[in-house]
Amino acid sequence: MGPFSNAVFSSKELFDEHSLNELSLLDGEQRLAYVYEKVKDNMENIFSEFYASIDNIDNEMDDNNNDSELNEYKELSETVESSLKPGYNILTDKHNNKTSSKCTEESILSDKVEIKSSPGQGRFQVAKELIPKGEIVALESPAVKFSISRESEGMCDSCGKFIPLNEEQTSQRIQCHDCAQVCWCSSKCKEQAISSHHKFECKIRLSQVMRREHPSLGKLFLVFRIFTQKNCKFFLHHYSNLIEIHASGNQGNFDIPHDIQRLFCLVGHPVTSPAQILELNLVAIAFIRLLRQADYFSDVTMNKQELSKSEIAIGVLSTILIPVINVNTHPIYHTAKDLEQISTFAAIYPVIASSLNHSCHPNLVRVSAMDKLVLVAARNIQKGEELTDMYTVHWAEYDTEQRKQYLKKNFHFDCVCCACKKDWNNIEDNPLKTNEDERKVPWNQYMERNHTEQIVLSKLFERN
Ligand SMILES: [Zn+2]
Ligand SMILES: [Zn+2]
Ligand SMILES: [Zn+2]
Repeated sequence: MGPFSNAVFSSKELFDEHSLNELSLLDGEQRLAYVYEKVKDNMENIFSEFYASIDNIDNEMDDNNNDSELNEYKELSETVESSLKPGYNILTDKHNNKTSSKCTEESILSDKVEIKSSPGQGRFQVAKELIPKGEIVALESPAVKFSISRESEGMCDSCGKFIPLNEEQTSQRIQCHDCAQVCWCSSKCKEQAISSHHKFECKIRLSQVMRREHPSLGKLFLVFRIFTQKNCKFFLHHYSNLIEIHASGNQGNFDIPHDIQRLFCLVGHPVTSPAQILELNLVAIAFIRLLRQADYFSDVTMNKQELSKSEIAIGVLSTILIPVINVNTHPIYHTAKDLEQISTFAAIYPVIASSLNHSCHPNLVRVSAMDKLVLVAARNIQKGEELTDMYTVHWAEYDTEQRKQYLKKNFHFDCVCCACKKDWNNIEDNPLKTNEDERKVPWNQYMERNHTEQIVLSKLFERN
């Protein structure tokens, strides 16, 4: 277990049932102070011990990037990349938007969709007119991304591009002089990273911490990265507005970048049980401990016996964002040989996350173009039809019960899509079932979707 998980899990042991109940009666700021009081020594010991242990091995870069297999990621050609826009049809290579300059939500969504909302469904997208198969309906850059896989070690810490090694096993990789733990594809990417997240993450050797953790912990560190991309002054200055944006769920007329406002508009899953409340606060305090070491705060109290004002502010914002990232994260895929999709980073795309619902019978296909998320019509989508994305579980591949359990456990909702309502079950292993009349159409749509996905991938990555 790495130092971060250890700090969180061992601190849980310091709470009995009585203190858990006391905790749940407090408000946000009081909870942080209460938990901090009990765990500060334990966390301090764990992190100090860890940093003492890596002093010796610092500046040793693991040499596991030399795997020649890693050189086989496919790249988008520049011409393909520049034509990717909402309204562009990947299958026919034509641009179909009537008014290509006037897309909604800053060119992220096609002008053929509109966002509607209802109490039961929240926000969702509906086709305003027929959307032909292969057409891009949404394309968004991530508000934040973080590695969730060892495979990403050969990738640019800024743009996420894979940087191939040449025959001498050296490469265009530009390494960080200070930590020697991350690399960039260009001096532009290096400057970008050093002026934002890496300024702080380098000081605390964050990649050394992460290398000792399970890679999936990177999803949680999306929240950490939201803070390191900016600085403490930014979050303190906008603190009350961010809280207001989160409470109302709407962006306001504030001097805050749109992507940050959208992050705080996203809806998280409810954290209600005392044990969940405790874990949320422990993670926030472990983040604070790391940020403190990164010199993120200007007002740390000398003896560190209590949290400073800015530490509490960042802690409260963490407890807002952690439940949000849990249910709003998308993976970024890199395309390897045979068009195999390998998930490398977790990312948040706030516009797409807040406007598309899951269906176990989706009509969209999802692909990654560099770090951008691209959603493509998997078949002709009729006027008035809802556009739907899928979180892993298709009805033709999993039984209804499996799907419902997976979605409840990981995304905290009860699926009421058409496939779940009608109890469509896995028929991949039993094609005879496709003969049942009701399944014929959806089965054909499933096959058509798989086909579209393959062609889209080959058009994007095998065109050269
Ligand atoms: Zn780069
Ligand atoms: Zn560094
Ligand atoms: Zn479903």
